Amino acid sequence: MGILLNRGMTALLLLIFFLSGCQQVPAQNKRPKNVILMIGDGMGLSQVSSRYYNSDLSEPNFSRFKTIGLINTSSANAKITDSAAGATAFATGTRSYNGSISVGFDQQPLETIIERVERKGVKSGLVATSSITHATPACFFAHAPTRLMEYNIATQLPTSGVDFFAAGGRLYFHKRPDQLNLFDQLKQNGFTIDTTALPQPGSLKTGHKYGFIMADVGLPPKKMGRDDFLTRASVLACSTLVKEEGGFFLMIEGSQIDWECHASNVAGTFLEVRDFDDAIGAVLDFAEKDGNTLVIVTADHETGGFSLNPQVSLGVPQYDSIAGGFYEGSQTTLLASHTAALVPVFAFGPGSEQFGGIYNNTDIFHKVVKLMEW
Ligand code: MG
Ligand code: ZN
Repeated sequence: MGILLNRGMTALLLLIFFLSGCQQVPAQNKRPKNVILMIGDGMGLSQVSSRYYNSDLSEPNFSRFKTIGLINTSSANAKITDSAAGATAFATGTRSYNGSISVGFDQQPLETIIERVERKGVKSGLVATSSITHATPACFFAHAPTRLMEYNIATQLPTSGVDFFAAGGRLYFHKRPDQLNLFDQLKQNGFTIDTTALPQPGSLKTGHKYGFIMADVGLPPKKMGRDDFLTRASVLACSTLVKEEGGFFLMIEGSQIDWECHASNVAGTFLEVRDFDDAIGAVLDFAEKDGNTLVIVTADHETGGFSLNPQVSLGVPQYDSIAGGFYEGSQTTLLASHTAALVPVFAFGPGSEQFGGIYNNTDIFHKVVKLMEW
């Protein structure tokens, strides 16, 4: 009898232990501490696919994602967005008109994700291969009725909530029509500024603001010998911001995929996508190790109607040889244009399961804000 009771007790204890284990939140539903949004400007599915046909055939980092979605990239006033309205959708969760830098049709500021998280003690960073004042990064720290106001956009950086930035755009800060030196204003607002080199990861202090501006305008294109700036700047941002207690939001842009596609340059497009994929690899390495970081990779729109066509020899398509091309309209206009194609979303880390399916560009913002309770 005593033995039976003991067996019964043991079974009951095991049952209680089992049930209490089940009540723990499953790991995949955990809320991350940090969010990294990576934007390949102009990066549609053919641009992503181009990475799978690089000569060395190393496994693309895109293959490391388990959750894939698609977004409709339209803006408020056009089926085909520009990069300003595209980034406004990501930064504010609201569709505005093409050319808008995080303002509505009434020209009033739309609150950005960086403005939101600043109030919650979350740090933020921006990395791009364009000027920091260019449309995509600008939408995360500035408000302007048009993307063309880059000198005005620059004046908004010193007092923005941004804690770390690395990009180009020196001339908007110290060679200005109004003679202002915005590097002085950045320093007065607590930034350490370097316009010459990125330091080694791990060498920067916590609770401090850093700005790195490495070129007068955009950084050189990859085809002109740009080094691994995007990867190094991304790693530097992650390794610096991760030390902050309240977590961080980081936007990383592969800015120049779009520029090569506008120029209908197939080889240049391959190189810029490869560079962006390398940065994705470094960010995923960080996120895997950290375990507390959600990584979202997407695009603001597709550029050029890019396609991976076969080479044609004597009128016969050669199916084992890719030429690549851009839509015919690009022959008759000065530059290839953006298109309305849905673009992919890749997500990794805690909360990534929220990002599968087909939805709107603005939903990236809303999904992040809801998941993070920002
Ligand atoms: Mg851009
Ligand atoms: Zn563009």
